[in-house]
Amino acid sequence: MVGGTWRPAADGGTFPVVDPATGETLLRIADATPEDGVAALDAAEAARSGWAATPPRQRAEVLRRAFDLLQQRREEFALLMTLEMGKPLAEARGEVTYGGEFLRWFSEEAVRIGGSYGTNPEGTGRAIVTHKPVGPAFLITPWNFPLAMATRKIAPALAAGCTVVVKPAELTPLTTLLFAALLLEAGVPAGVVNVVPTTNAAALSAPVIADPRLRKLSFTGSTPVGRTLLRQAADTVLRTSMELGGNAPFLVFADADLDEAVEGALAAKFRNTGQACTAANRFLVHEDVAEEFTRRVTERVAAMPVGRGTEDGVAIGPLIDSRAVDKAHRLVTDALERGATLHTGGQPVDRPGTFYAPTVLADVQPGSDLLRDEIFGPVLAIRTFATEDEAVTAANDTEYGLVGYGYTSDPARGQRLMERLETGMLGLNTGVVSNASAPFGGVKQSGLGREGGGEGIGEYLETMYTLTPDPFRARPTVHTHTHTHTHTHTPATATAAATTTTTTTTNEGAAR
Ligand code: ADP
Repeated sequence: MVGGTWRPAADGGTFPVVDPATGETLLRIADATPEDGVAALDAAEAARSGWAATPPRQRAEVLRRAFDLLQQRREEFALLMTLEMGKPLAEARGEVTYGGEFLRWFSEEAVRIGGSYGTNPEGTGRAIVTHKPVGPAFLITPWNFPLAMATRKIAPALAAGCTVVVKPAELTPLTTLLFAALLLEAGVPAGVVNVVPTTNAAALSAPVIADPRLRKLSFTGSTPVGRTLLRQAADTVLRTSMELGGNAPFLVFADADLDEAVEGALAAKFRNTGQACTAANRFLVHEDVAEEFTRRVTERVAAMPVGRGTEDGVAIGPLIDSRAVDKAHRLVTDALERGATLHTGGQPVDRPGTFYAPTVLADVQPGSDLLRDEIFGPVLAIRTFATEDEAVTAANDTEYGLVGYGYTSDPARGQRLMERLETGMLGLNTGVVSNASAPFGGVKQSGLGREGGGEGIGEYLETMYTLTPDPFRARPTVHTHTHTHTHTHTPATATAAATTTTTTTTNEGAAR
């Protein structure tokens, strides 16, 4: 969708969107070319000043209407996500709630874009700080949360007064297209949101990123692609927000409530069939409770119903594609070869579609690939530790720093984790941290910037500072009775003139 209308690709090309639970094509859609990408930026640029000048209240109400429409159409969006992405329908409904909250949150933020006015330390001037929309933004989203990753970027951009070009993941473009139609219905003007699905992300993105009219790039995806985009963004000194990979540690201390730790572990690991950047990747469990923890999670995981997301009661859907299945299996095989023990699962599921059995591994040995790489699948890998220091050192032993989880009943230990874990987020006695009202984001190679919370809208705002003299300072104003052009004098020339002509000096100039 470019400029509010549906159109074919510049070269007429199309591509299939596939249901990962069956391998069947759902439908074919236009495959945007690099020219289409630039046309989308043309449309975003054309709509830029109109949207930036739209009163914040009006922008807020459009977003709020989008929130309401999404609630009304919850089932339609949930089903579409399940079909193109595979997640169980109950989780898809949950994503409509989560994704919708960004619309509501940023509708509330749109009218609270503040500024400041203050006296400089010398007392000679006033500093006025204002915030303006940064300008057209390019939003690149992944396939794992087709709705929420779109709303988490589009809502703050629109609230701030920015127009956008969205490039959804080629595996799940339908939800974003349906959402773009909903935004038009909610009153978003044509050209404010443009969507360009493509099978050639790199080719489409390069000229858009290189275009000096683009002022912001927000990306969610893998760390390697994030690095490439950061390099490209350097050429135009483009502002970027990067939500990249994770390798979340999940710490269970001996003083933890094990019932709660097990519930949290299952949520942190198996939500979205393990395909989340916040998914717990490494379970570090105190040696005194490791056996019991392993027994309890294994019992639960072995009973998890696997199937198509539309089937009743399914907990584990398909992985997104066969590459994901191969990767999960490679990591499990490597861990087993290095000495891990298999408690349940451990192989692809023999049925059509791309399924991997929910798996529990214990005694995972140092050096195993899955301690370093994001698993992005339903594999729960357990290692033990003896001391808190050992646990924290192991938790921080990664290039990533998105989120950590800690289960303990000792508040002081919880506080120590908060201070010592090198992550942007911490789930303390909880297995889910995502919330529209909180600043989501990572440290180290997990990314730059924050989405949601009070910080979220700031990613789409430029700060401008104006300095002006102290308005109470006496400034001479010249009134000559012999010349007619004196009112065009600048203060400097007026001061000079005051020494040579007949003048009256008043404080009137301060009011001009
Ligand atoms: P994942 O492994 O989750 O698919 P990716 O980082 O490959 O993560 O993809 C996330 C998003 O980035 C998708 O929309 C994908 O099309 C896009 N993408 C991948 N490579 C590039 C690239 N070179 N330039 C721009 N976008 C890209």
